[in-house]
Amino acid sequence: MSKRDYYDVLGINKDASPEEIKKAYRKLARQYHPDVNKEPDAADKFKEVKEAYEVLSNNQKRAQYDQFGHTGPQGQGFSGEDFGGFSDIFDMFFGGGGRRDPNAPRQGNDLQYTMVLEFEEAIFGKETDIHIPSEEKCDTCKGSGAKPGTKPETCRHCNGTGQLNMEQNTPFGRVVNKRVCHHCNGTGKEIKEKCPTCHGKGTVKKQKKIHIKIPAGIDDGQQIRVAGKGEPGINGGPAGDLYVVVQVKSHEFFQRDGDDIFCEMPLTYAQAALGDEIEIPTVHGKVKLKIPAGTQTGKTFRLRGKGAPNVRGYGHGDQNVRMRVITPTNLTEQQKELLREFNNLSGNEAADENEASFFSRMKRAFKND
Ligand SMILES: [Zn+2]
Ligand SMILES: [Zn+2]
Repeated sequence: MSKRDYYDVLGINKDASPEEIKKAYRKLARQYHPDVNKEPDAADKFKEVKEAYEVLSNNQKRAQYDQFGHTGPQGQGFSGEDFGGFSDIFDMFFGGGGRRDPNAPRQGNDLQYTMVLEFEEAIFGKETDIHIPSEEKCDTCKGSGAKPGTKPETCRHCNGTGQLNMEQNTPFGRVVNKRVCHHCNGTGKEIKEKCPTCHGKGTVKKQKKIHIKIPAGIDDGQQIRVAGKGEPGINGGPAGDLYVVVQVKSHEFFQRDGDDIFCEMPLTYAQAALGDEIEIPTVHGKVKLKIPAGTQTGKTFRLRGKGAPNVRGYGHGDQNVRMRVITPTNLTEQQKELLREFNNLSGNEAADENEASFFSRMKRAFKND
């Protein structure tokens, strides 16, 4: 008979408070108590409710139930009144006595490699070979770690399980704690005559050359997974994966935000006032842009499709060009004279309405002095 979940039995949530558990229990106990309830299955229901309450009202039992369900650690099960004690309490903390077979195939470790890209390389993509240090299977012993012609033997200390039982006295009583066998480092095997190349490890350090394709439009912090290029698997398991994490260098003129590129263009005072046609650098080459007369600092123009390609292939971003009017410095005497004349002519008046109101706001601010 399969047991119902204790939380379902009491009709409460997994995060129910002790008060909620007590309340639910009292209500159901009254409902199913054999003295009041004469239905044939009432006694069983009452027992079920009582058992659920006994486990869930005890913090330790509840924690254990949450982790292991009805089975309990080590398959001991909960037996109503008591569920087998805590003889293996350390196993409970260390994952229920996970007796991992040291000979079972395991996937190799994943590797991470950081690749630094120039700004343009990230935009247009790149193909390159990288060399990563990697633990590779030793050719001399074919990964066994034993001298050619010999074989690894079962470890005498742990009988090939890779684990040793350590008995310890603790406040909970005497407990059995499983430790990785230090004679065989958990492999369960003992190598009498070690392979001269790898000294018994079964692997050797090598430089692994891997061809990497960086897709156009990749951005800083993104990563590429290269399946099966991590460390080799153990006991015939699959190799791990390689993750190439991309770091993109900043550019002295362009900035990137997603697929869009931003830049700032300097304009001379005359260009801004009179208008001009200027050339804008983009990662795709020069683009001509007409600047209208009276362009202010901060005015931004959008060059459609001149940004970075979308890394998933959804078109291109834009380039946004922000204008910055540069106030001239180091003027010659003649230039200064012309500017003075200009200033007299314009009488310090602003050309545009916005600017006019800006000037008048500024003048009003002085009146508070
Ligand atoms: Zn070897
Ligand atoms: Zn051992």
